[in-house]
Amino acid sequence: MLSRRNLLASMLLSGIPAFASEVKDWDVIVVGTGVAGLAAACSALEAGAGNVLILEKSPVVGGHSILSTGYVAAVDKPRQQRAGIEDSPSLMLQNMLEVGGYLNDVELAKIVCENSEDTVYWLERMGVKWDGNIYQTVAGLHPRSHITNFVRAGYDYVMALLSSAKRMGAKLALNTKALDLIEKDERVIGIRVQNPDGSITDLFAKAVILATGGFTANVELRSKFDPRLGSEFPTTANPNRKSF
Ligand SMILES: Cc1cc2nc3c(=O)[nH]c(=O)nc-3n(C[C@H](O)[C@H](O)[C@H](O)COP(=O)(O)OP(=O)(O)OC[C@H]3O[C@@H](n4cnc5c(N)ncnc54)[C@H](O)[C@@H]3O)c2cc1C
Repeated sequence: MLSRRNLLASMLLSGIPAFASEVKDWDVIVVGTGVAGLAAACSALEAGAGNVLILEKSPVVGGHSILSTGYVAAVDKPRQQRAGIEDSPSLMLQNMLEVGGYLNDVELAKIVCENSEDTVYWLERMGVKWDGNIYQTVAGLHPRSHITNFVRAGYDYVMALLSSAKRMGAKLALNTKALDLIEKDERVIGIRVQNPDGSITDLFAKAVILATGGFTANVELRSKFDPRLGSEFPTTANPNRKSF
């Protein structure tokens, strides 16, 4: 049994909250607190996951999502029709492939387009309040973008999803970096994490969801897509790197 003093000390020293070491098997561990990770946590809880842990390497939640301008492209027949705009998932896909220079993963792009309308209404159920207008963004080819407001839309999405995840019972560990997946018999059974004090903890789960954002901090990988993107270019994806 942890004493109150030890409990407080462990909460201060470790990103993994004290309850975490008591949970031997999480249903779901999500890595990353951008919109992808928080949405995954909410969906898992809605689908019946009993205990969900969200890990974040930074001291604050939100990743790039919280900084985002926040235009959400989606087919939304009720709102678009009210504004006299015709749209469909197939037109959205066509536009997405064109803007992506036809380098997109078509199957993934299709999933995004075919589920975009449901996503807009699911986000509303999670607490997002759109301003109600439909916009065409500068890079967009069709008016189908939604936003909460022009000042802090990314913040709104992160906060709505975080509140919903917490309300449904998710636990959050900040300053906790995922290092490696733990595998057994070719299945992922958990994740090795680094606590803020540098110590390492192994956590086990039925499912691990990686939602760690893009790869702009990985110079080797990004150079494959554009050889000009050498290490001289800083990135918001790894602001703590000493060389930046
Ligand atoms: C200024 C700006 C404006 C933008 N405007 C728009 C827009 O209008 N419309 C649009 O669609 N998109 C926009 N984007 C892009 C959009 O914000 C991103 O595509 C989206 O937020 C990515 O979300 P994500 O959850 O995948 O990643 P992120 O939000 O980056 O979240 C990833 C999280 O994972 C954490 N993490 C990473 N590695 C680890 C690890 N090993 N252990 C633990 N945690 C880890 C990170 O710290 C971060 O919190 C914009 C982006 C920026 C920066």
